[in-house]
Amino acid sequence: MKAVVIEKPEQFRVARVADPTPAPSEAILAVEACGICGTDVHMLEGDFALARYPIVPGHEFCGEVVAVGSQVINVREGDFVAVDPNLPCGHCRFCRMGRFNLCENFDAIGITRDGACAELVRVVGANAFKLPDELPRRWGTLVEPLSCSVHAFDQIQPPVASSYLIYGAGTMGLMLGQLIRHAGASRIDMVERNPARHEQEQQTGGGAAEHDDARQLAHVEPRVRD
Ligand SMILES: [Zn+2]
Ligand SMILES: [Zn+2]
Repeated sequence: MKAVVIEKPEQFRVARVADPTPAPSEAILAVEACGICGTDVHMLEGDFALARYPIVPGHEFCGEVVAVGSQVINVREGDFVAVDPNLPCGHCRFCRMGRFNLCENFDAIGITRDGACAELVRVVGANAFKLPDELPRRWGTLVEPLSCSVHAFDQIQPPVASSYLIYGAGTMGLMLGQLIRHAGASRIDMVERNPARHEQEQQTGGGAAEHDDARQLAHVEPRVRD
């Protein structure tokens, strides 16, 4: 299959690599779409300490199951799925506290093992989640970053009618903006230094507002220091 391979920091290529085969607990997906996360850029630049090289990046993805190992029971061939790329060990101190994001034995698809910037990707079957048929297929790519946004929002548990300031109108900022708006924000401000993102910010952050009070999405131009 074809895959993007980061050989080492600052060096990547599109290469022919062997097709993956599933272990008993694993599944193989034909990748439909794969997002590019800030983490991928950090890995390419060599400033993400947990990355292993060479690596096929890509941890925000969706695809169709094309093969399953003998122990996989939650998905089967033909299912269209999104995947939780994180593979906490389950037995370290933090995992036993339920703080899987702090696992001392970090392991994740696209960071420590090959990811989905490829035609096929190997995943742990239990981490695959079937998506509704009516969901446009490529939207499945956003399930992983949206999950992070939902978790972040759950952490702050704000009262209804709060005011918010979001730094950055990238994928995460825009999704947080939508979550916050639907949770009954009274005001949302976003700071974004890249003017090319401002229109999208208005469309995504403000366009779907359901009541006027939440339409106060503003562009706060930051003062840029030299
Ligand atoms: Zn990511
Ligand atoms: Zn752990």
